[in-house]
Amino acid sequence: MSALQRIRADFAGKRIAILGLGREGLALARLFSSLGFLLLLSDDRPLEELPQEVRQFGDLGAQIKCGGLSLEALKCDSCFVSPGIPLSHPVVARVATRGIELWNEPRFFLRYCPAETVIGVTGSSGKSTTASLIAAALRGTGRRVYLGGNIGRPLVGELAHLQAEDAVVLELSSFQLQLFKESPKVAVITNIAPNHLDRHADMAEYIAAKANVFRHQREGGAVVLNADQEVSRQLAACAPGTVSWFSCFGSVPSGAWLKGDELVLADGTPLCRASELKLRGQHNLANALAAAAACDLVGVPPEAIARGLTSFTGLPHRLELVECIDGVSWYNDSIATTPERSIAAMHAFNEPILLLAGGRDKHLPWEAWAEEAKEHALGVVAFGEAGDMIAALLRARAVPVQRVRGLRDAVHLARNLAPPGCVVLLSPGCASYDEFRDFEDRGEAFRALVRSLRT
Ligand code: ADP
Repeated sequence: MSALQRIRADFAGKRIAILGLGREGLALARLFSSLGFLLLLSDDRPLEELPQEVRQFGDLGAQIKCGGLSLEALKCDSCFVSPGIPLSHPVVARVATRGIELWNEPRFFLRYCPAETVIGVTGSSGKSTTASLIAAALRGTGRRVYLGGNIGRPLVGELAHLQAEDAVVLELSSFQLQLFKESPKVAVITNIAPNHLDRHADMAEYIAAKANVFRHQREGGAVVLNADQEVSRQLAACAPGTVSWFSCFGSVPSGAWLKGDELVLADGTPLCRASELKLRGQHNLANALAAAAACDLVGVPPEAIARGLTSFTGLPHRLELVECIDGVSWYNDSIATTPERSIAAMHAFNEPILLLAGGRDKHLPWEAWAEEAKEHALGVVAFGEAGDMIAALLRARAVPVQRVRGLRDAVHLARNLAPPGCVVLLSPGCASYDEFRDFEDRGEAFRALVRSLRT
């Protein structure tokens, strides 16, 4: 049976609620609507703020309830929840207590995906980079490769086209994984650090969600774990399948590691030199090793792994060089929404750094970040809601810091402060929502502000 036939059979006669009409919700609505299902589409935002397409589903017979999640969901048989909606949302919680099955887009995709090679990638940082590196290596083998999930591309729309011999790389966030009852055949956890503790009850719940990426594997399943982290090493104990490792600091029994300046497989097969990677920073070496270990597990030849790793030039908003102006290099690392990530970014440079940090704090610990800034930054411009908190931490450590209102002021001040040879690094350590729609919006604003300095 094809994927679509299986979906028709499993959901026959069921009424389906889709809560949250972002990218994933709309992709699901398209699929279910094309298959003729009865739909309830609901979103917290009012209809005027939603894409025109939502109205078209109404014309096709879907019930549309916007401006608040609808309790009509309680009358449905299956409920799809967008990752932007916490499971603690009163409507979702009531749906769950009724025993109505909760789904999300990647869980549904995984259930019906006909491809035999599916690699799920999660972790606190490095998911998109690692998933993209894996996809780059797989593409070099001539296979058709689908890269999607949390990286911004829902894949349900591809279910009709996917073939058994295709390969899928699925980036998964902890919010998405919370609902998983199946795991991809091959899983990667890049690392685990405090993140999203505003949405998870505690660190244990966060780690448990991440572990869903491999916990439900069957025979033949495999997980790649970070040998350099105690918390990741401990996860091996609950892996039902094979465990493979990556390490920047020592050899591993299976997987990939950094031997001097060389990335090698566990059996010593050389892949490439660290200096051949186009990505900056120690953290990207870890990502490349994780990708190599995953590719090795699915039989990608070492030469193809090496080609993939050394050809990949990076993703936007991740240590992205925007401009060099008068000897100052301006880097956009807007994706760094936690102090942990901002630390990783500081480690990526040997040049003196003028750091732009701030935005909306996610209630994460900042002490280690402040110590790193003392070590690595010649100064900090603190902006946004968290600006005062950041400035206070730095002043206590005698790190030069100036507080400004928003990103625009931060860029203009940095222009005056940064000496030639310096890197101005936007690696904010905070979410963007106090000033921007999301991290991409912030990164684009930063690019535009920096480019305007030329004129
Ligand atoms: P994610 O998809 O998990 O958000 P990305 O691959 O998009 O991660 O990288 C986002 C940022 O996270 C990078 O710019 C860098 O600052 C940081 N980062 C990436 N990989 C790692 C890693 N392995 N360890 C620590 N920080 C990392």
